[in-house]
Amino acid sequence: MAEGYVCLACSTADSADLYYAKDHLVSGKEFTIRKCQACGMGWTVDPPSESEAGAYYVSEDYISHTDRRQSASDYLYHLARSFMLGRKKRLVTQATGRNTGVIVDIGSGTGYFPAYMQKRGWHATGVEISEAARKYYADRFGLKAISPANVKDLPTASADCITLWHVLEHLYSPDEWFAEISRVLKGDGRCIVALPNFSSTDARWFGNRWAALDVPRHLWHFTPESLRLFAELNGFVCERIVSLPLDLFYISILSYRNQGKPLALINGLITGAFLAVRSGFRKEKSSSLVYVLVKR
Ligand SMILES: [Zn+2]
Repeated sequence: MAEGYVCLACSTADSADLYYAKDHLVSGKEFTIRKCQACGMGWTVDPPSESEAGAYYVSEDYISHTDRRQSASDYLYHLARSFMLGRKKRLVTQATGRNTGVIVDIGSGTGYFPAYMQKRGWHATGVEISEAARKYYADRFGLKAISPANVKDLPTASADCITLWHVLEHLYSPDEWFAEISRVLKGDGRCIVALPNFSSTDARWFGNRWAALDVPRHLWHFTPESLRLFAELNGFVCERIVSLPLDLFYISILSYRNQGKPLALINGLITGAFLAVRSGFRKEKSSSLVYVLVKR
């Protein structure tokens, strides 16, 4: 990250501080966001070290929330999750051209996605750093996720698909992860990466109040251009980009809520609609994007 300020995506050393962003979820601390002047890639300067990072995640709260059905927002959460699981499966089927196969989900959390795929005929392996989340996955679904330390034990050229749903931006040493992804993926396999878009219309509009900055958990702030360069640097080619249009509304609501603005829900929906129009519905200006990568 801070190491000489060399860009992860394009290896250029020409970067500048952009603004400070606040951690609204855990610490309330501010972090500097730095931007590559060549490719537009952003990163969080001096984030907590990898061994200290766990303190910035509220995994216990998150896990207890996942199965609760008490309020309207719980129901909305479950509805959105069901919708997204189906959407993700369709993306995998389209990207790989397969209805079954071997899939590895990196950053699987409580494991709803690998469990969903396993139930539908795929052989799914979750990779998850949180021991509590791995235990939840085992108790809830009777399946076993592996820790990142055990990824090295996955057989070479064994996976048809490797997915990282809003995970790459959290990873320390993403290039080391991509070396492993490249090893485990079959020659004709596909790697699917979902990311917030640092050059989206909403990122520009909200600036340092953009909720998808999510410092210091998000270490990297990719743009479509910087992701393409990062992929190429690591032996992949970006084959296809798909937008996730609903994320714009979620991020807009959260951006207002983080600032303690009244009527965050209504304001977020109105602003989301306004920004969708302002973006001209251009894919590369979308709040979140899914990239389909193939080995070069
Ligand atoms: Zn760059």
